[in-house]
Amino acid sequence: MSDEQQPHSVKGPSSAERWLNCGGSTHIIQALKLNEGEDTEDGPEYRREGTAAHALATICLRNGQEPWEYAGLEMCGAKVNPEMVEAVQTYVDVCRGVQTPATRHTYIEQRLGDPAHPEFFGTLDFAAVGHISADIVDFKYGRGIRVGIEWNPQLMCYAYLLLMRHPEITQIGMRIVQPRLGNDGSEHFFLLADAVRRWADEHLLPVLMGVGHVADLVPGEHCRFCPAKLHCPALTGIFEVLANAKAAAVKEMTPEILAAHCDQIEAVNIYIAALKDERMRRLSAGDPVPRWKLVALKANRVYRAGVEAIFREKFGKRAYSKPELLSPAQMEKLGDEAAAMVAEHSYKPDKGFTCAPVSDPRPAIVIRKASETFASAAPAEEEF
Ligand code: SF4
Repeated sequence: MSDEQQPHSVKGPSSAERWLNCGGSTHIIQALKLNEGEDTEDGPEYRREGTAAHALATICLRNGQEPWEYAGLEMCGAKVNPEMVEAVQTYVDVCRGVQTPATRHTYIEQRLGDPAHPEFFGTLDFAAVGHISADIVDFKYGRGIRVGIEWNPQLMCYAYLLLMRHPEITQIGMRIVQPRLGNDGSEHFFLLADAVRRWADEHLLPVLMGVGHVADLVPGEHCRFCPAKLHCPALTGIFEVLANAKAAAVKEMTPEILAAHCDQIEAVNIYIAALKDERMRRLSAGDPVPRWKLVALKANRVYRAGVEAIFREKFGKRAYSKPELLSPAQMEKLGDEAAAMVAEHSYKPDKGFTCAPVSDPRPAIVIRKASETFASAAPAEEEF
């Protein structure tokens, strides 16, 4: 969805799953001046692509155009490639499909908000509003995690905001189109307007009004997209407790304690993933992380293109493990001549790098920071 293209609201629909489950997250994010929009499952390049895909969809829906008309062009810093064309076409088709002769209002990339709660606003991707019903369509270009449709907090927030504009609506349908994860928008979640309002009364409005334990930090699966997860005392506290716990004590746990620990597994996994991402980010930027280094990922040798005929001519059927050519390691076992040919006609593809402890026997990959590179390129100072 497209909230990521806008200045972020403190309590926007796109992060509703987090702040509805962990009311204290908004305070910690604000206190640490963290950027709501940056912590997504996908990296900056994917965010750029997501912005481009949304922009392309908006143009097509507003102008009655087709995504292929923009193939190969640059949009919002990303190239409109065939995959983007196909994904946007799927979304555009769903949006056009929910429009009917009864549609009175069409919303495309429409900002919606609640005047009573100025921090609660966001940008709705698409909605078609008829006399008594409305359809909301949310476009997700990412391929991190497939998002569920039923009672999805983000769509429930948009449904509630849309009902504020159109109180005459009695029913509302919601769809998510996430083409790169196989969701073509054919599945939809349908609710009566009263059910949406009841959900808002029970789950949304108490949090917006600051009723109850809204300052509590509550870890869970929703921590995945929280920009505060590496700073959060609740999450780091659980991690430290579990990291120092004795595995042998697990056998002695009561069912309740075992369940309580298991409830935290996902949150701890999210924290561990965040630690690994940060370690990789720093090492890749040339910043030190004590006791860790970058190393090349292990890669098996592969043959250079077009060498099969050379081995077939030399070794005939012996060069095959039906119906494939023998692997380089298997081929070497045919003798010294075969080993020499493998050395000439194979290579190890570059698989990128990973993090490893300094004790790892692989040589460290040294990343020079841009500032160091430029400093070494600068003309040497004259000595006097
Ligand atoms: S990391 Fe989890 S528990 Fe901590 S503030 Fe974020 S959502 Fe809440």
